[in-house]
Amino acid sequence: MERRRQERVRRILMLSLLSVTALIILAAAVVLVRTLFFDEPVDPRTVRTPEGVEVDLLTPNPYSRPQTPLTEIRGIVVHYVANPCSTARENRNYFEGLKNQSGDNATSASSHFVVGLEGEIVQCIPIYEIAYASNERNADTISIECCHPDESGKFYDSTYDSLVGLCAYYCKEFGLKPKDVIRHYDVTGKICPKYFVDDPDAWKQFRKDIKKAMKQIE
Ligand SMILES: [Zn+2]
Repeated sequence: MERRRQERVRRILMLSLLSVTALIILAAAVVLVRTLFFDEPVDPRTVRTPEGVEVDLLTPNPYSRPQTPLTEIRGIVVHYVANPCSTARENRNYFEGLKNQSGDNATSASSHFVVGLEGEIVQCIPIYEIAYASNERNADTISIECCHPDESGKFYDSTYDSLVGLCAYYCKEFGLKPKDVIRHYDVTGKICPKYFVDDPDAWKQFRKDIKKAMKQIE
């Protein structure tokens, strides 16, 4: 009798041990699958603005800052202002001025950031609100406008370097890759940013430079 009871207790213990082990393995598998395939999107509200950016937000208005929430960021869209020699501040003020429109011919335009000729960065819209820059990708991207000295659309090194740094920073924060940084051209076929459309090698190099900059952020 005693032996049989001992046998039963041992069997129950073994079964419990097996169940616990199975449960642990199952939980580990669920965590693994979740991290591999269902990355939780980063809430843009939790990401701070990088050092050195001048935050000068537009007044909320229907034409340039509609305050539509941007909840998930899946890319960054690069633009050029197409107005040679204009400064970051002038472009920011142009977006601000759109609030004074009315009627049927109103223009809607804006950008989260404008990078100036000297590499200065002005933020016009918080990254948790959409900007009117990238057409159907407004809903899931950060937009960056860049100033340039002439019609070629080529950026000064100062502008280029700030742009690379800004893209690298947000790629890191949102778990994006350099290939998630796209041109306005890739969304609509518009020649924007002109220099990176005219010179695909320069565009490739730009993405490589983002990759390099991301490594330096670690
Ligand atoms: Zn554009």
